[in-house]
Amino acid sequence: MILLEYEAKRLLANSLIPVPHSQLTNIDTPLELPLVIKSQVPVGGRGKAGGIAVVYSKAEYDDAVRRISKLPIKGHLPKRLLAEEVLEIEKEFYVAIRLNTIEKRIDIVAHPHGGVDVEENTASEFYVRELSQDTIDQHADIIADLFDIAEKSHILGDIISKLYSCFMKNDALLLEINPFVLTKGGDLVAADCKMEVDSASLFRHKDWEFETQPIDANFVTLDDQGNVATIANGAGLAMATVDAVASAGLRPANFLDVGGGANEASVLAAFKEIMRYKNVKVILINIFAGITRCDEVAKAIIAAREKIDSLPPLSIRLAGTNHSEAKQLLDAEGINLLPTLADCLENAKEHTL
Ligand code: GDP
Ligand code: MN
Repeated sequence: MILLEYEAKRLLANSLIPVPHSQLTNIDTPLELPLVIKSQVPVGGRGKAGGIAVVYSKAEYDDAVRRISKLPIKGHLPKRLLAEEVLEIEKEFYVAIRLNTIEKRIDIVAHPHGGVDVEENTASEFYVRELSQDTIDQHADIIADLFDIAEKSHILGDIISKLYSCFMKNDALLLEINPFVLTKGGDLVAADCKMEVDSASLFRHKDWEFETQPIDANFVTLDDQGNVATIANGAGLAMATVDAVASAGLRPANFLDVGGGANEASVLAAFKEIMRYKNVKVILINIFAGITRCDEVAKAIIAAREKIDSLPPLSIRLAGTNHSEAKQLLDAEGINLLPTLADCLENAKEHTL
């Protein structure tokens, strides 16, 4: 899952990586000027799209906040804006750490010309090397030369080391700093951050609380106006469930495969995602548990009923591993299980009448 800039920068700050002072803002927040106003959308290219503005007066600030709040970028409207201290930029570099799934290693990627035009650099011009704890200083020396800041190779090494630990600690897939800024005052600062963390590691990060939904690859919107949301495990069963809903004359809102090792957190995240569909009258849960355990799913169902306001009625069929434990948990909460998918569909029809 891709984090918003302000979420990623909080993780950077936790790892003591220098980031600009910032706060989330709205039009009423009194702030010290000048400021950079930045649209918090989960896509890049905000600068070019007009989603970043440097403002010097209250009038400019109000204008920028009003304009950027309403400006969709690649289809995303920001829910929040970030107001940041203005950096006096001397140079903009590109620095990233990413998981290289082909070579099965972690890469450091760098280019002396970062910023909004980074895509104009030829791919082969990027410095790309395997990164490990004991090669950090080596890379820092080379990259400092490349950036023409040889005298800062120590500071750069320290920052790369912190980026690396931030990457590892957060089970990241990508940690991209563009631009990585040299200020006129000689400081190195992460002016922007794109960070992708591995959704599958959610269970190791109970404290994660991101705006972005922690499910992406296996969640597909089918029909914004659909009246039945589906939660299933395994792509095949998830597809069959969607088909069954459609065959019953209902409108499936989504396809969702919660995955083989679905746990309480990931199923709860799925519920939250489904709450985006305003037309959903019933959530149909069809789990055939092998590696997945029915009791984990049951706990998520109970948590969802506690934590989510106006959760639609549930139509639940659970089969497989730990079914009886699940039934016990759900019985105690007065939540019914249905024996077959056909029963779930009948039940769903009643709710959608
Ligand atoms: P992106 O376009 O979505 O990648 O957003 P960025 O956060 O990278 O911002 C785009 C560009 O805005 C940067 O490359 C900078 O040139 C400019 N920018 C961002 N923050 C500042 C700042 O504090 N001061 C100045 N002068 N420019 C900034
Ligand atoms: Mn950027």
